Amino acid sequence: MNHSKKTKSKKIYIITFIICLVMATILFFTYTKLSNKEQNNDVSQNISPSSNTTLNEQPKDNIDINDPASQFIIVNKNRPILLSYVPSDLVSPNVTLNNQKSNSENSIRNIVAPNLESLFVDAKKNNLDLMLASGYRSAELQGFYYNNLVQSLGQAEADTVSAKPGTSEHQTGLALDIASTNRECYLEACFADTKDGIWLKDNAYKYGFILRYPLYKDKITGYQYEPWHFRYVGKDLAQKIYSQNTTLEEFFNL
Ligand SMILES: [Zn+2]
Repeated sequence: MNHSKKTKSKKIYIITFIICLVMATILFFTYTKLSNKEQNNDVSQNISPSSNTTLNEQPKDNIDINDPASQFIIVNKNRPILLSYVPSDLVSPNVTLNNQKSNSENSIRNIVAPNLESLFVDAKKNNLDLMLASGYRSAELQGFYYNNLVQSLGQAEADTVSAKPGTSEHQTGLALDIASTNRECYLEACFADTKDGIWLKDNAYKYGFILRYPLYKDKITGYQYEPWHFRYVGKDLAQKIYSQNTTLEEFFNL
């Protein structure tokens, strides 16, 4: 009897021990789960306010300046895009093209084409005779132009007027050079003083284009004044950049 009593209390002791162990395990896991959840909440709370702040500080919601397919992409010497990037919607716009360029270089992105066509129609109404001098350039073609300039000017000078492959916004299909059909001041600074250059500078924003490399902004953009080089960003942003007399880099605090 005594022996059986001892065995019984031993059994009770073991069962109690097991129950305690199970409860401790359950408590441990519940606590760990809760504490992880709290940590996750902390992380999301940390992200949310700062990203909201960024959006509030800059009323530029939904503007993607990193995706090469975005109309807001910012490409410059410090912000290259992949050499392999080719826009998927290149078209030949219905404007006067450069007969010395390939079909590829005479193309631009589909979202740009109707805006460029409207600009050309209105330029014609103002007795201007423009042509698309250069549109989309593959990284390979850009490399060809760049290397030619390095050979003729030396690298330092070439870098102020041309872009290394992957750093030219011509590769996005959103940038283009415009010239007079008579090639007066063709891709030269004096184009700014021609009636074509003056009209473009004052009106391109109405069609969604900005003068990408303005005068005295070379320290910011990395390029000398290019009164012929325009970049499509859409009418809304073009209007803001034009009225603020600024650049893409300054507008986005880059
Ligand atoms: Zn250009």
